[in-house]
Amino acid sequence: MQSPAESFRIGHGYDLHRLEPIAPEGAGRPLLVGGVRLESDRGPVAHSDGDALLHAVTDALLAAAALPDIGQLFPDTDARHESRDSREFLKEAGRQVRSAGWVVANIDATVVLEKPKLSPHKEEIRSNIAAALDIDSSRVGVKGKTHEKVDAVGESRAIEVHVVALLVRN
Ligand code: MG
Repeated sequence: MQSPAESFRIGHGYDLHRLEPIAPEGAGRPLLVGGVRLESDRGPVAHSDGDALLHAVTDALLAAAALPDIGQLFPDTDARHESRDSREFLKEAGRQVRSAGWVVANIDATVVLEKPKLSPHKEEIRSNIAAALDIDSSRVGVKGKTHEKVDAVGESRAIEVHVVALLVRN
């Protein structure tokens, strides 16, 4: 019988992107969170499309399976990844995790963003992540928090995301 220790894997993902006024005023890209474009005059500075939530989910899944991380798979020095849709990173992580013999049991994400509010978009974000991974959206949890106006995140100078993911043996 398979050891219980071989039945589960937990992974943690983290990402932060600096937020700047959106081009042409600044270097910011449109603010994408979980594949949803949020109304904002500030957006992430990034090589890809800058979707910090999708980056953190991608890393949590890869980490759980002890696979190379997002920066190793999709280096930001590679011109092919410039302005790249981050859903492609997530889909690739899903493929790699599945071929390593794992199923995504659940994902829990916390997005720390001073504004705008995430709540009107949560369901769309959850279904975007679920669709990219070919799982039911009941397995994807997304929470929005502010940083109480303190430090870079609280001053809308950055977006920060924390994610945990649980894999079970297929
Ligand atoms: Mg990132």
